This record gives sequence, C-alpha cells and structure tokens, in this order.
Amino acid sequence: MKEIRDAEIHHLIGGEACLNFADTLYGHEGAPLHEYLFDYRDLVLWSRHAGILPDKDARGLLRESMRCPADAEVIFRRAIFIRETIYRIFAGIARVHPPKAGDLSALHSAWLDAMAHSRLLESADGFRRGWEGGFALDRMLWPIVDSAVELLTSEEAQSVKQCGGCDWLFVDRSRNHLRRWCSMDKCGNRAKMRRRHARHKMTAGS
Ligand SMILES: [Zn+2]
Repeated sequence: MKEIRDAEIHHLIGGEACLNFADTLYGHEGAPLHEYLFDYRDLVLWSRHAGILPDKDARGLLRESMRCPADAEVIFRRAIFIRETIYRIFAGIARVHPPKAGDLSALHSAWLDAMAHSRLLESADGFRRGWEGGFALDRMLWPIVDSAVELLTSEEAQSVKQCGGCDWLFVDRSRNHLRRWCSMDKCGNRAKMRRRHARHKMTAGS
C-alpha cells in the first residue's frame, strides 16, 4: 500500500498559500515539534495537496527530481529558507512587530525571480495571470512567494494572526475578527480542556 506522507494530510488553515506553507512546520522558534516537509518529494506532495500544483505537474516534477536529485535538494533547501522568511515576516506582523529589512529583501528577491516566470494567459473570458509551462523544479515556489507579496501589500495583512495555542499563522476572516485558534480540533479544544481541568482542580481544592 502507498505510504501517505504527513505533507499530504497537513491541515490547510492559513487562508492563503503563503501562510499554509509557513504552517508546514509547527515549532519555528524553538525545537521543531512537527515538521511536514522532509525532502523535495514532500514539497511536491504538499504543493499538490494545497492546490498549488495540478496532479500532472506534480507527477512531472517528481520524475524530474529523480533525474536531478542534487538540483532537487538545492530547491528544497531554498524552499525551507523561503518558508522561514515568510514565517518571520507574518509572525512579526501578527505580533505588531515590523518585519526585518533582511527578510523583506529576501522575499523581494524571491518574488522578482518568481515574476520572471509569470505569464499573461488567454482564458475563455479574457486574460488571466499564470505561470510559464514546463517542469522547473522550483515552480511551486512562484505562486507561494507571489501570495506572500499579495498578502503583505493588501489590507488583509492586518488580519494575519498567530494561533493562541501553537505558532501557526492564519488570516482571520471570521465575521467578528475574534478567531483565536488555528482550529478548534487542534488547539481550541485543548485550551478548553486545560481551562476545564484548572476549574476542576480549583473546585476540588476548595
Ligand atoms: Zn494552533
């Protein structure tokens, strides 16, 4: 039976590709607690799971990575560097700390590189933005980086929050803008249990 990788069942709770990507690690600032991406293959499988790569492209990239494993490894390391850059920028914004100049400049240069592959494509009702074809090993990074710049320059940047129970990031699109948790299942219920446990202890102790 085919082994299912964690990358393929990752909870996509970020609301934008860039934040979902930043959330592929739980524990950015101390000891990593849960890593979803261990190699280039995981990066491709996650990108397909996240809707960034169509199935056909994912299969092509996996084939290409087996042909050029050293190149795939370089791209994987760059992807992790970009992920951590995106994480620091938006975790900073969520805590109302301005992003560091070095991180902004790293994102900007990754974005310039992505834009070199951006294309204007004809669609049924006019034109749309898309990406050049082919199986460039880093093609999943282009839309991710583009989404980071889009979010950073939009009004929604102010709605980026960090979960109260873990370090995952998300765009708070709740109606009252009071979302606190990445998900009720993962952190919300855990916090509820902790509160209940503390209340129980207090009642038992009194
Ligand atoms: Zn959480």
